[in-house]
Amino acid sequence: MKESPPRTLPNDQDATGRTFGEEEQSAVLAALASGTLTSTKGSFVKQLEARFAEKLGVKHAFACTSGTAAIHVAVAALDLEPGDEVITTSITDMGALTPILAQGAIPVFADVDAHTLNLTAATIQAVVSVRTKAILVTHLFGDPCEMEAIMELADQAGIAVLEDCCQAFGAADQGHPVGSIGAIGCFSLQQGKHITTGEGGLVTTDDDALARRLFLMINKAWGYGDQNPDHYFLALNYRMNEITGAVALAQMQKLDHSVASRVANADQLSAALEGVNGISLPLGGSGRRHTYWRYCLDVDPHVIPGGTVALGNLLRARGIGCAPRYIQKPAFQCQIFTEQRTFGTSKWPFTLASADAVDYSPERFPGTFDALDRVLVLPWNERFTSDDVLFIAEAIRESIDELKA
Ligand SMILES: *Cc1c(COP(=O)(O)O)cnc(C)c1O
Repeated sequence: MKESPPRTLPNDQDATGRTFGEEEQSAVLAALASGTLTSTKGSFVKQLEARFAEKLGVKHAFACTSGTAAIHVAVAALDLEPGDEVITTSITDMGALTPILAQGAIPVFADVDAHTLNLTAATIQAVVSVRTKAILVTHLFGDPCEMEAIMELADQAGIAVLEDCCQAFGAADQGHPVGSIGAIGCFSLQQGKHITTGEGGLVTTDDDALARRLFLMINKAWGYGDQNPDHYFLALNYRMNEITGAVALAQMQKLDHSVASRVANADQLSAALEGVNGISLPLGGSGRRHTYWRYCLDVDPHVIPGGTVALGNLLRARGIGCAPRYIQKPAFQCQIFTEQRTFGTSKWPFTLASADAVDYSPERFPGTFDALDRVLVLPWNERFTSDDVLFIAEAIRESIDELKA
């Protein structure tokens, strides 16, 4: 059997897989030369906010320090009562979950679809209670959730929808960009996302009242520009600085390319893997525009001996730094949830939760466990060449043959 020689793929953790160039370099210098590095006085972050809102077709965008900060200010903007429930998913980044607890609300985990790994209207419906005040959906890997059905459910029940778009720049459902569908959209500019400033975040909304609260939550609730400004309520400083804003503006120019290249690469891989027995490819389709933060395979362990873990090991040996099982275990099996470690020994706000809201029995999450048992997350990057994609396809075919032999 011919084995392809190892190959070093572009990596989003260093310059090989990122797109920093003269544009970012001169942006940093311009920000420094301005002498104003706070966004309260400077112009770069303001430009970034205006351009991002325009890009998404929403009225308001605000920059902040991370995706986690974006989720926190989004949850906080809803002004929930302690113990209110926010329905969400356990296959996500912890930065999408801890802000709910930090704001005194209870994350209630709904199951996911085993193939898309996303929440669905049906799985959400199953955990709606009288205390449900919000639904936080994650468009995982860049694949949008079925937003039409989710919005219909939420609108009928009078529940706010927050969108975690940290992995889904450029994604859309039925032609609507993610981040413009629910009440608030949250984005991350962390090192490994579609575009990056190392750390950073953005929130979007069409609603003026929510926009006001988002702004205040980022700004210690200080009423800039008001007649009698004060610190109106509990809020932190989550402001992006001007250097980061300048880099983000330069990266924004590269967003369309990052998205288009990832999609084209993904289409090429899907074509190259068509018909391989034992794996299913990411679906996309039915009006959903998937923008491939990562490319995931669904590996059938009944056809491929050893399943995703065995296939992942062989791919890693060929230089493909993939992640079998993605986050390994659902978020509700992490210590923060199993031991309810929050503020001192208080366990607050878990102490306010109903037994049902914190029942993490595995039998309630068949889709979640099935999905993690089968998913193989491939690294994905806008700088992959056609040869890189062919190399990955070959490596997958060869590895599967080896396991089946
Ligand atoms: C990256 C990410 C976050 C958190 O963003 P940070 O900028 O790392 O704080 C939240 N949710 C999802 C789905 C993410 O991928």
